Amino acid sequence: MKKINFVIVGYGGMGSYHANTLMPTEKEKINVYGAYDVLPERQAAAKEAGLKTYASYADVLADTDVEAVLIATPNDSHKDLAIAALKAGKHVLCEKPVMMNVVEFDEVLEVAKETGQTFMVHQNRRWDPDFLMIRKIYQDRPIGEIFQLESRVQGANGIPGDWRHLKEHGGGMLLDWGVHLLDQILWLVDSPVKDFFVDFSQILGDPVDDGFISYLTFENGVRALVEVGTTNFTKLPRWYVKGIEGTAKIDDWDCQGEMIRATRAENVSAPTPIQAGVGLTKTMAPPSEEAMEKIDLPTATAEYQPFYANLYEVIREEATPIVKNSEVRQVLALIDEMFARVAGK
Ligand code: NAD
Repeated sequence: MKKINFVIVGYGGMGSYHANTLMPTEKEKINVYGAYDVLPERQAAAKEAGLKTYASYADVLADTDVEAVLIATPNDSHKDLAIAALKAGKHVLCEKPVMMNVVEFDEVLEVAKETGQTFMVHQNRRWDPDFLMIRKIYQDRPIGEIFQLESRVQGANGIPGDWRHLKEHGGGMLLDWGVHLLDQILWLVDSPVKDFFVDFSQILGDPVDDGFISYLTFENGVRALVEVGTTNFTKLPRWYVKGIEGTAKIDDWDCQGEMIRATRAENVSAPTPIQAGVGLTKTMAPPSEEAMEKIDLPTATAEYQPFYANLYEVIREEATPIVKNSEVRQVLALIDEMFARVAGK
């Protein structure tokens, strides 16, 4: 079947990553055809990379050889660019956060429905190896039923770039890394959020959050702490997961960590009390050796079709999207509620 000619709209950090790294993995299906950026230097970079460039977005949409666009521009511009493309008969792949809020997203979904074009969102971090390992632990239960998850990303570089500092462009970390981490957790736990707590960090003086801590309670009883920080000069583990029979920890994206579970052996000796600070404790002493065992962390293999291969089949063969708009909408609705909660609404 014919390859899909894509134009990258916004040839910045992520747009060029799609063009140079992600799309070429599906060379038989996806053709990186052109690019359009409002900055002349990014247009020049696209041209240098051998891409067709356009003088305006209208020119992209008027090009009948173009079947789809990837929107990789600052967050506040996604809606208008998406609607214009859909109305021009193009399929749209949109970077996260899909829109600034659910109202905007519903507007776009309505246009996608009217035009019959595909609209899909790039929630790529569902295929991060560390997350896939946690998903396997959650599903296979080597440490028993999971009742608490802690998911963190922590950096020490503050908010990067320019537009990410500004509210009007959809800046801040909740709309940045927050979207990924909440998408992972909601997809993993697959149960409605019953309640949540959220607190923003704004210690860098930006008008947007430079990080946040949230704690979600799901209807199935699972709890999840989700945290993003940009002022952490030393990090906590990427994942810390508690099951009824053990604990798993993944330190970072290199997927190192450990998983310890109770042996449930009979007649294990009681833990020997240890000195802790200036006191003595049995509660916090290490369990006796026979009481616990170290087990291997699962290996991470994605049992899904790669994103672009799926997108191709969604467009060509009406396959089921691996990232569904209903899932994306749930995450955005939660984020809307978080912003409202912080604003005291
Ligand atoms: P960036 O600032 O590096 O690039 C954005 C580019 O868009 C710039 O070159 C800018 O000139 C251009 N631009 C701005 N308005 C435009 C318009 N109206 N038309 C055409 N071009 C326009 O930003 P980035 O880090 O690449 O982020 C872009 C998008 O990608 C954001 O929505 C971000 O959240 C998303 N993103 C996703 C991931 C991921 O892992 N999925 C990672 C990084 C960024």
